[in-house]
Amino acid sequence: MPAVLRVALPVPLPTLFDYLPPAAGVASVGSRVLVPFGKSTAVGIVVACDVETAVGQARLKQALRVLDDDALLDSELMTTLAWAADYWLGAPGEAYANALPLALREDRALPDTREEMWELTQAGRSALDAASRRGRSRALLETLAAGPLTADVLHEALPGWRDAARRLSEASLIARVESRLATHTPSTVAPALSAEQQQAVTTIGASLGRFQPFLLDGVTGSGKTEVYLALIEQVIAQGKQALLLVPEIGLAPQTVRRLRDRLGVSVQVLHSNLAEGDRARAWLRARTGEAKVILGTRSAVFTPLPHAGLIVVDEEHDSAYKQQEGFRYHARDLALLRARALNVPVVLGSATPSLESLANVKAGRYQSLHLRARPGAIRPPQVQIVDMRAQRLEHGLSPALLAAVADTVARGEQALVFRNRRGYAPVLLCHACGWHAECPRCEHPLTLHAGRRQLICHHCDYSARVPEQCPACHAPDLKPQGQGTERLEEALVARFTDVPVLRIDRETTRRRDAFEQLLEGLHEDRPAILVGTQMLAKGHDLPNLTLVAIVGVDEGLHSVDFRASERLAQLVVQVAGRAGRASKPGRVLLQTHHPDHPLLRQLLAQGYAAAASSLLDERRSIDLPPYGHQVLLRAEAHQREHVDAFLADANAALAGAPLQIAGPMPAPMPLRAGRHRGQLLIEATSRGALHALLRPWHQSLWRLPSARRVRWSLDVDPIDLY
Ligand code: ADP
Ligand code: ZN
Ligand code: ZN
Repeated sequence: MPAVLRVALPVPLPTLFDYLPPAAGVASVGSRVLVPFGKSTAVGIVVACDVETAVGQARLKQALRVLDDDALLDSELMTTLAWAADYWLGAPGEAYANALPLALREDRALPDTREEMWELTQAGRSALDAASRRGRSRALLETLAAGPLTADVLHEALPGWRDAARRLSEASLIARVESRLATHTPSTVAPALSAEQQQAVTTIGASLGRFQPFLLDGVTGSGKTEVYLALIEQVIAQGKQALLLVPEIGLAPQTVRRLRDRLGVSVQVLHSNLAEGDRARAWLRARTGEAKVILGTRSAVFTPLPHAGLIVVDEEHDSAYKQQEGFRYHARDLALLRARALNVPVVLGSATPSLESLANVKAGRYQSLHLRARPGAIRPPQVQIVDMRAQRLEHGLSPALLAAVADTVARGEQALVFRNRRGYAPVLLCHACGWHAECPRCEHPLTLHAGRRQLICHHCDYSARVPEQCPACHAPDLKPQGQGTERLEEALVARFTDVPVLRIDRETTRRRDAFEQLLEGLHEDRPAILVGTQMLAKGHDLPNLTLVAIVGVDEGLHSVDFRASERLAQLVVQVAGRAGRASKPGRVLLQTHHPDHPLLRQLLAQGYAAAASSLLDERRSIDLPPYGHQVLLRAEAHQREHVDAFLADANAALAGAPLQIAGPMPAPMPLRAGRHRGQLLIEATSRGALHALLRPWHQSLWRLPSARRVRWSLDVDPIDLY
C-alpha cells in the first residue's frame, strides 16, 4: 500500500487530511503540497508521511504537487505548532497557516530574497565629478558616491528617490545590483551602561546557549532597550539570530532605526502592515539564517530561527500578544515554548509586568532583573490625585487640571491629556424625553463623532447620521454626554488659543505612518498639548513633555472583568511614564471621582510592584488566573434559542467532570452586530486535568447538531470575557 501523507489545510476544522502522494516529487514533513479540496484546490503543510489512514484507500485523493523540495517549516517549528494547536485547542490547519506569511500560503514560487541595491556606474562617477546633473538626480548620485546602498536606506535618506533612480539608470549612470543582505558600519555607539544595565547584560549573557526565562522589570526609559541591544550584539558576534517582538507596529519604525544604526546589520521586519511580498522575504531570510535580527509583532513569533541565539518580548504585558480570533494563541507564551525548544534565553521586558509573569518569578520559573533608575532623568514623576467630586468641570476637565496645563505651556513645555475613548461623546441624549442614540445591532449607545457628523458603534462599526432632532419626541435639544478625545481637543483648542493642540487616536492616525508623522511635527522646544488614547502610552520619546493628565480612569475601577484592575494599573503607570523622560522633572495628575479607591491609593503610594502583588494575592485567594485556569466557550447566532441550545448541549457533555463551570450565560455584551451571544466558562486549578477533560469534549462539540446553527469558538486562557 502506498505511503499516505497527512496534511494540515487552512480550514477551521478539527482534523488533518490524508492524501496519496503526488505522482512526482517527494514530500517531506514541513513542506507544502497542493491538494484537491472540495471543488477547488488548497495549499497545505505535510504534517506526517507514511501514516496509517482510517480513510478507505479507494476514497483517498491524490495530492497534486509538492511545492517545496526542502521543508519550509523545520522540525522545531513543526513540533511547536503541533503543541500549540493542541494547547490552544485550535483547528490544526489554522495553527499551521498562522505560521506562514500570506504570500507563502499560495501556490506560487518563493520570492527572491536577495536585497535590492543601487550603485554608481563608471559613467555615473564621471557625471558626478562633472556636476552635470541637478536636483534629486544629483542628490542621488552624491548619496551613492560612497558606495552601493539598499532601497531601504535610500527610502530614508532621499524620499522620492525612485524617479531619480529611473532617470539615472536609463542614462546608465547608476545600476541595480542584487546582493545578500548588506552589513554596514554602525552609526551610533552604545552608551556606557549603568551598573544595573550591566548586571542584567552579564546575567542574561551568561545564559546564552541554554534555555532560561528572564523578566526584565524596569520603568519606561530605564534603558531596557539598551540591554536588548547589548545582548543582541553578543548574539550577532556568535553568528546567531535574535528575535525581538514588540506589541504594535507603531513601535516598529523607531526601533528598526535604533537597531540598524547600532548593530550594523540589516533588520528584518515582520508585521501585518507590510506588503505581503516584503513580509514573505523577511521570513525566508530568517529561515536561511541570513537574517540576524528579526523585529516583529505577534505573528513574528512563528519566524524560523535555525541559528537562534536570543528571543526578546518587549512590553510583555501587552494584550496585543494574544490573538483574539481564529487560532487564539498568545505570542508571549509561545515565545517561551520556542526558547525552550531552541535552547536559548528569553527576555520578557516591561515596566508593568503581567501578573502571569510575576507569578512565574515567584514560583522560581523566571529569573527577575530590575532596572530602577532612569538614565538622564532627574527623578521619577510626581503623581497626584485630582478629586473631581463637587468640581465645576469644563467638558470633563477640572480647574486644577486646566491650571496645571496652563502652567506647563506657559513654561514652554508640553502636556498630555490622556483619555482612553475616541470620538466626541460616548452618548447622545435627548434632554426632553431621555431617549439616547443606540446601535440597533448591539443595543449599546452610539458614540458621537462630531467632526464626521456621525454616530458610530464602536462594537460593530454601524454608523448613522446625527439626527437634527430627537426621533422619539422631536425636541431639538440633543445633548452629548461624557467626553471623548475629540471633545477634549475642542475644549483645549478653545481655551489655549496660541498653543498647538494635537489629537492622537485611531481616527487621526488612520493612514500608514500617520502616528510617527504627527509626533515628528511636534517641535521639541515649543509648548504643545497632546490629547489622545492609549496609542500615546508608548513610542516616541517626548523630551519636553512634563505633564501627563489622566482623565476618566473610573470605568476601569468598576468593571466586571477581573483583569480590569491589572490593566488599569498598567495603563496608569505606562502613561505616567511619558512625563519627564529627559532632564526636566515630570508631573502626573490623575483625575477621578474615587480618590480613595484602594487600588489607586496603593498604586500612587507604593508603586506598580506593590499593587500587582496585592492583585496577585486576591487572584490566589479565589483561584483566578494565573492560579486557576480558564477556558471560555463562546457562541453566537441570530437567534437566541440556537445559542442556548448549543451551550446547553455543550454543558451536558461535561456533566460529572470535576470542573468549575459557570453558565451557560449571556456574554457581557449579549447582543453584538445583530447576533445573540452566550458563553460557558470552564475553570480548574490544574491545567493538566483541564486539558485532559477538554480535548475529547472539544472534538465532540463538532459533532453536535446544535453546533451547526451557531458560530462558536474556544478560548484557552482568555484575556477578556467579552
Ligand atoms: P526603555 O526601553 O526601558 O524605555 P531605553 O533603552 O529606550 O529605555 O532608554 C531610554 C533613554 O535613555 C534612551 O534615550 C536611551 O538612549 C537612554 N539611555 C539608556 N541607557 C543609557 C545609559 N546607560 N546612558 C545614557 N543614556 C542611556
Ligand atoms: Zn426626546
Ligand atoms: Zn453595534
